[in-house]
Amino acid sequence: MSTDIEIARAATLQPIGTIAEAAGIPDAALHPYGKYIAKVDTGAIPDFAGRPDGKLILVTAISPTPAGEGKTTTTVGLGDGLKRLGKRTMIALREPSLGPCFGQKGGAAGGGYAQVVPMEQINLHFTGDFHAITSAHNLLAAMLDNHVYWGNGLDLDERHIAWRRVVDMNDRALRSIVSSLGGATNGFPREDGFDITVASEVMAIFCLARDLADLEERLGRIVIGRTRSKRPVTAAELNAQGAMTVLLRDALMPNLVQTLEGTPAFVHGGPFANIAHGCNSVIATRAALKLADYVVTEAGFGADLGAEKFFDIKCRKAGLKPDVAVVVATVRALKMHGGVARDMLGTENLKALEAGLSNLARHVENVRKFGVPAIVAINNFTSDTAAEHALIQNFCRNHLGVEAVICRHWAEGGAGTEELATKVAALTQSGEADFAPLYPDAMPLRQKLETIAREVYGAAGISADAKVTARFAELEAAGYGNLPVCVAKTQYSFSADPTLRGAPSGHTVPVRELRLSAGAGFVVAICGDIMTMPGLPRQPAAERIYIDAHGQIEGLF
Ligand code: ADP
Ligand code: MG
Repeated sequence: MSTDIEIARAATLQPIGTIAEAAGIPDAALHPYGKYIAKVDTGAIPDFAGRPDGKLILVTAISPTPAGEGKTTTTVGLGDGLKRLGKRTMIALREPSLGPCFGQKGGAAGGGYAQVVPMEQINLHFTGDFHAITSAHNLLAAMLDNHVYWGNGLDLDERHIAWRRVVDMNDRALRSIVSSLGGATNGFPREDGFDITVASEVMAIFCLARDLADLEERLGRIVIGRTRSKRPVTAAELNAQGAMTVLLRDALMPNLVQTLEGTPAFVHGGPFANIAHGCNSVIATRAALKLADYVVTEAGFGADLGAEKFFDIKCRKAGLKPDVAVVVATVRALKMHGGVARDMLGTENLKALEAGLSNLARHVENVRKFGVPAIVAINNFTSDTAAEHALIQNFCRNHLGVEAVICRHWAEGGAGTEELATKVAALTQSGEADFAPLYPDAMPLRQKLETIAREVYGAAGISADAKVTARFAELEAAGYGNLPVCVAKTQYSFSADPTLRGAPSGHTVPVRELRLSAGAGFVVAICGDIMTMPGLPRQPAAERIYIDAHGQIEGLF
């Protein structure tokens, strides 16, 4: 089969105006960025706010393995499958970050015959949203240091600045730096550092904001540090929120593109799934729900992190009510959960597969705890065998009471997901969905975290040292106790140990640190090592990316 980029390039795209028209978006609402991409100003769509919402379908997955699961690919494939059935469908996805494109993982526009296009633009600069977010973030950093330079009227404690700088690149050299070197005219030297743009709180805010006014208010609430007397200092005290919002105004309009089969897709915003909540913007999801009868969206990582945050943070805050969760699994990844080494995944191994099913079972049961009916999508790889498929399907039917559907969208496009699409559409009409977040707002922060650990991770509980315990109390006292908790832990395991595959139970989740994202509106609980500025691997993908003799981009995947 051809590579992703070859398939994407061979496709004949429709003008974006044609895609928009079919989706019910009038020309007056379109801000085209070239022929195949447009931003959509939903304010220019007549009677928009009063329309009823379509059905919301979340695509999530088992715990990721290096074998790959294919959430984005399945999101696109399911969208195309629903469209083939004649349903008015839209897809809502995150924008890719340059870090993984040039690092190891590659792009994030789907794969095979289930892709959003134009894939080169989507994966690279696209409409400049990440540039805008980077600029807004760094404007606040510049204003902060400038405030200190001109006398530090707010009495900011330079030893406790909480606002770092960002760049959309994997660059470990910038993780920890000393800024303001070079003499008195350059300010006061201090330790500083860079995170990748997708880890910025501005990115999380961008993706949770309802509109421009809400965006500005949230930006003003960002806590940038504290005074020497330990009072938190906000961006609003630097009067930064207005200019930051100006930089983000155009970016806040969702980006419209198409799949290889012409299904309309919003690709908008892209917060990290660890330090933030890991799904596309609320604005894009809500707009899609007004435009289509079926909206398919993706949450990052496995369901323990991605779906939990989608439900407990995004849906809770935006008032969204998901109707179905599709849990993506692959035979290869399940075998890895069952103990098979990566180089042996192509060989049939029913015993290991059976052992690995514990991971799938836990995720399916978890999703149901939110009142959302589940269905399993088996993303078919060419090495899968019929016996392996049958084992998963029987297990799901007999032990979990859910359907598991074989999907061939990677090789066949929407034709390969018609069965999944039919069953998903039926589930949305079944009346089974009764969404509720896992915990109430009023529950204390520590108990929220314990609830997630026990109910979702299968843990016995959490552990916190005296410093973290004091921090819980400090956040409660400062009035942040009603916020949801955003857990940052390894995506590879239900535990905090990335090597524990399958479905470990009875472990303790160690809470190392609590970070306040007051603008985004959550408290980040850091449980284990998390990286807010990734590095490049020994042989970065960037070494193989170039422009060929025909002027075409090669090496993106
Ligand atoms: P996720 O969203 O879960 O991170 P993606 O959908 O981005 O995963 O897929 C990761 C990679 O795996 C992509 O390069 C895609 O082309 C590839 N992939 C997905 N499904 C299949 C499949 N069924 N067969 C082969 N490769 C696949
Ligand atoms: Mg993805």
